[in-house]
Amino acid sequence: CGIVGYIGHRDAYPIILKGLQRLEYRGYDSAGIALWDGSEIQLCKTKGKVEELKQKCESSATIKGNIGIGHTRWATHGVPNDVNSHPHYSNSGDLVIIHNGIIENYDPLKQELTKRGYTFKSDTDTEVLVNLIEDVKKNEKVKLGKAVQIALNQTVGAYAIAVFDRKKPNEIVVARLGSPLALGVGEDEFFIASDASPFIEFTKNAIYLEDGQMAVVRNHKDLKIWKIKDDSLVAPYIQELQL
Ligand code: GLU
Repeated sequence: CGIVGYIGHRDAYPIILKGLQRLEYRGYDSAGIALWDGSEIQLCKTKGKVEELKQKCESSATIKGNIGIGHTRWATHGVPNDVNSHPHYSNSGDLVIIHNGIIENYDPLKQELTKRGYTFKSDTDTEVLVNLIEDVKKNEKVKLGKAVQIALNQTVGAYAIAVFDRKKPNEIVVARLGSPLALGVGEDEFFIASDASPFIEFTKNAIYLEDGQMAVVRNHKDLKIWKIKDDSLVAPYIQELQL
């Protein structure tokens, strides 16, 4: 399983699709992509190979956009099928997430959210997480980064996630605990991936997030990294990748 994301000035779809192909070695049963097309989120996902995803995406109307996230899934909660494939929306349709890993306490969280009126289309732990983030964001009236942080502090498990908001499609929030996550730092652009292979052709500057860290990347030069547990800022350590 793997994750890929892009925010910047390039066409995100080919970068994400090729990135997913490069991460195929990690093993997966489904794949999906969400792109911001300038007015809406376009989502295509399917059980099966990245090649099938490519055909599905390219037969749909809009696959253009400068911000997007993509995922290959290794099912842990819910059988491999189209609905359980990532990305997953929150109930409002505003937030969209990809996740590698397991939210172990998804069941009590799901019950709590169900009591508050949330409904679930899939059987995944991931859809619980994205709705928990939405719930926190609404109740606490905080920005997406803070909402992700508060939500993650209520979870037990392992994750590499990337999430963005269609109401504020100029940033992607990422976090990791127990699953790998690398950031590629270009000129006014950022790449997100499980390892550097999806972005090494575009930039040699990489930041490997450490366990327990999260970051927000914006489509200008801005990058902020901090600890999920206690808010403390982390100075970005940019490594130069060797070919
Ligand atoms: N637990 C999530 C699911 O089953 C993510 C699995 C993965 O790492 O791909 O959908």
